[in-house]
Amino acid sequence: MASAESRPVAVPGDIPALDRLLRDAAFADLLAAHGRSEVTSALRKALAGLRANVVAGAAAQAATEAPVLAAAVAAALDARHRRAMRPVFNLTGTVLHTNLGRALLPQSAIDALAEAAATPVDLEFDLATGARGDRDRVVETLLCELTGAEAATVVNNNAAAVLLALCALANRREVVVSRGELVEIGGSFRIPDVMRTAGARLREVGTTNRTHPDDYVDAIGPRTAALMKVHTSNFLVSGFTASVEVATLAEIAHARALPLVVDLGSGSLVDLHAFGLPREPLVRDALAAGADLVTFSGDKLLGGPQAGLVVGRAALVQRLKRHPLKRALRVGKLTLAALAPVLALYRAPERLAAQLPTLRSLTRAPAGIEAQAMRLAPALRQALGARCEVAVVAMESQIGSGSLPTATLASRGLAIRMAGRGGGLDRLDAALRALPRAVVGRIAEKALRLDLRCLDEADEAEFVAQLARLTP
Ligand SMILES: *Cc1c(COP(=O)(O)O)cnc(C)c1O
Repeated sequence: MASAESRPVAVPGDIPALDRLLRDAAFADLLAAHGRSEVTSALRKALAGLRANVVAGAAAQAATEAPVLAAAVAAALDARHRRAMRPVFNLTGTVLHTNLGRALLPQSAIDALAEAAATPVDLEFDLATGARGDRDRVVETLLCELTGAEAATVVNNNAAAVLLALCALANRREVVVSRGELVEIGGSFRIPDVMRTAGARLREVGTTNRTHPDDYVDAIGPRTAALMKVHTSNFLVSGFTASVEVATLAEIAHARALPLVVDLGSGSLVDLHAFGLPREPLVRDALAAGADLVTFSGDKLLGGPQAGLVVGRAALVQRLKRHPLKRALRVGKLTLAALAPVLALYRAPERLAAQLPTLRSLTRAPAGIEAQAMRLAPALRQALGARCEVAVVAMESQIGSGSLPTATLASRGLAIRMAGRGGGLDRLDAALRALPRAVVGRIAEKALRLDLRCLDEADEAEFVAQLARLTP
């Protein structure tokens, strides 16, 4: 048979020895790239597989040649060294997507991060005196300047900030919180659970929809350590509702020499209304209204690295800094290096929308996104062929991460529908996620929807180029 002649079946004697292969020129580049032990172990596995095929009479002689084995080893090592965390295209329509890593950093922060990663820095070292310093110093001055606070500290995330505040101020004592503010954030952060973990007793007051000043006053007793207000960031109670403002709560707390702790969730350092976005409470306003400690996230609307920021009265912040848990929850030099330039951008708010990626994405005009959708639609149509219909459609983006839950932003994107009976949408979704830089969209209304708000124009070429690999 012709095929048997052109592809002779291998016999055990055709299998080359491992040592000889490692000396073969076909393996030189692999050895240089991965080192001897990695290549040897991958090659040993490849040879074992080959041997099993040869014994079964299922291997062609060509499969025993050095270049073919080298290619197999290269593929195996590539898969093994593929980074566990890979870049994706966030076309979900949710700008601050927790599962996709929330905020993207501005270039100044990326540069500072890279430098701090590569060199020793004066993290906790006072260069003037040669004595030990305080790592919070890197951002404390900026945070105080931007919020009007007396002092500030930084921990791993806002959940950690709340935990630390409760541990340091309310261990074995009571914290008064409105029932309307016992929120759950992202599944694993629930105010009652954090309270218990911190060893504080939750004293719930009011009802789900209404809490009044007297509810707090009546709940305060000898075991009360603090009053707490939690920004109900990820849901909205509407209708017959009442909650107590920070200023009123502060008055009640201060009249009894108690501190008021406010968890703002996202919080903001500037009035987002000025950027055409819905208002989010300002950290500065909460402090001015009398909050003694305010906690908020570094990677929500602030647009920085994951961090939990605590600002407020010097004596209280000092108690947090001295608490043993602070040592466990503190951030590393990379976080501080990235956070400082992000905060510095807020000194010139008029330049924020251009320089802070989160704000840039949030403030993109629908017309610009629509033009981008028009540019990309033909490439997508060509890659998907006749089985799909691609349309440029209006979409509503979300801010995400529990910020401004009811506010959506007018956006544009590409809606892909399966032609005919419409099967295979899930498979197409999976194929897009399997691309070298995964494309993450959202299936809704029988279409795979790609909201282009978060597709940087600089990344368009990469987006288009990899579409050629699609095999829907
Ligand atoms: C998001 C949020 C948190 C948790 O913040 P992380 O930085 O994600 O830990 C806590 N409280 C509120 C009100 C939030 O919105």
